Amino acid sequence: MNIRVEVMSFLHDAKIICEQLDDYLKVSVAGEGKVIDQPPITSIIDELKLEKWVTEGGLSHNEFKDFIATYLSYATRLHHPGYLGHQCAPSHYSGALAALMDGCINSVMSIYEMGPGAATLEFFMINWMLNQIGWQPQQPDETGVNINSSGAGVFVHGGSLANLLALVVARKKVLPDIMATGNAGDLAILVPADCHYSITKSAAIMGIGAQAIYNIPTDDQGKIISQQLPQVLDEVLADGMKPMALVANACSTSVGAYDPLASVAAFCQKQQLWLHVDGAHGASALLSAKHKNKLQGIQAADSVTWDAHKMLKTPSLSAALLVKERKDLATAMHHDASYLFHDKDQPGIDFIQRSVECTKPAIASKLFFVLAAVGEQGLAEYIDHQYDLTTQAYQYLQTQGDFECACAPESNILCIRITGSDAHQLAIRARLLAKGGFYLTTVVFKSKQYLRLVFMNENSSMHTVKQLLSEIRAASQSINGQNN
Ligand SMILES: *Cc1c(COP(=O)(O)O)cnc(C)c1O
Repeated sequence: MNIRVEVMSFLHDAKIICEQLDDYLKVSVAGEGKVIDQPPITSIIDELKLEKWVTEGGLSHNEFKDFIATYLSYATRLHHPGYLGHQCAPSHYSGALAALMDGCINSVMSIYEMGPGAATLEFFMINWMLNQIGWQPQQPDETGVNINSSGAGVFVHGGSLANLLALVVARKKVLPDIMATGNAGDLAILVPADCHYSITKSAAIMGIGAQAIYNIPTDDQGKIISQQLPQVLDEVLADGMKPMALVANACSTSVGAYDPLASVAAFCQKQQLWLHVDGAHGASALLSAKHKNKLQGIQAADSVTWDAHKMLKTPSLSAALLVKERKDLATAMHHDASYLFHDKDQPGIDFIQRSVECTKPAIASKLFFVLAAVGEQGLAEYIDHQYDLTTQAYQYLQTQGDFECACAPESNILCIRITGSDAHQLAIRARLLAKGGFYLTTVVFKSKQYLRLVFMNENSSMHTVKQLLSEIRAASQSINGQNN
């Protein structure tokens, strides 16, 4: 097929896909049909005729239409009000259009000359985030600017990668020669028990084993108890270890609790310990006049992870690592790659020196397009709505004798359990998913199994919550009946 024909088919096939997506979104938002349908993988392979299409090609026009319809029937519908699952945004369509555009032009912008427009959007969005945190934005023209004078950041593929990068930056601060010398095996990290597993995974990638991760005691909500920080640090030092960073949650993945950042930051500053705030989920509350106080003290941290694809309605993946001092990020990963980094007189900046990725699409543009559609106020209202609905659901649950919650919610995450064993909660989730009307997750918090509801969807309401509780009760009774 020559390029000319391909270009002619583009508009035709794009129209097919847009029409079907329009329908998909309308059906999802209306809560019609299932949230989730997961037949075995082999049956999807057959139904989509994957073998044929890969071998022969030519998927276009009517066959394309059928293919998309089937494919969409096996999408888990994040825009359905019964979606209470993982912390992924029911994305705004404008972010999806940005992804389409980026796929078309393939603007691999980690070096400025490969996509000046896209690099500029990333630069601009980083500054927007730095401003929200209360840090100095980067100057538009880097030449002649004192490198210590501002914050910096980079968009990466997810909060996990941002956390890894944060720890790499923190390590360089403690061991300036790390690139040459490698680890001496005595580095330690301080974390609350409830930190995201990407922290321990990152540590492992960096050659820091689980033994060198010191748990900070937490309270009933899983929040750091600041008064106990000196003891943990003493323990690290007594073991002959070198503390390189403390990670605090804003908020935690399990129950959505915010660590007391101001007191944690005061401790870290006194001890000259790098404070990384994992705000992958909860940093977005900075936009909300009502909830930003939960992040009080964040500007005293050294680095922050902030996902746009969680609470900023942005399609996955679009996450940022932000640092207070640009020099820390600029020098974290010096490498010799003369085909990329020769001394050149150029406009703009190369993000490539700040990230693990080499080739990188314009992931910040997705966030930009969402903001350009709904504005800061639109996102603030969304966050308020989700956080407030979660509190309302919690208050309602307090009046229901057969349910208990792990703790009072501080964000849009609520962990509940119905009377019965840990295994009973898991069995209930399996039933609900098989039925397909709701999608939710589970978590173990303080050694107890909970059903975990994350209110990501602005179409969910108290009506959804009441429906869910009656479905849970029905499933519970039916399981109990079977077991008797
Ligand atoms: C979701 C989450 C992560 C991981 O982010 P990804 O974008 O899924 O890689 C890290 N930390 C916290 C606190 C999270 O909630």
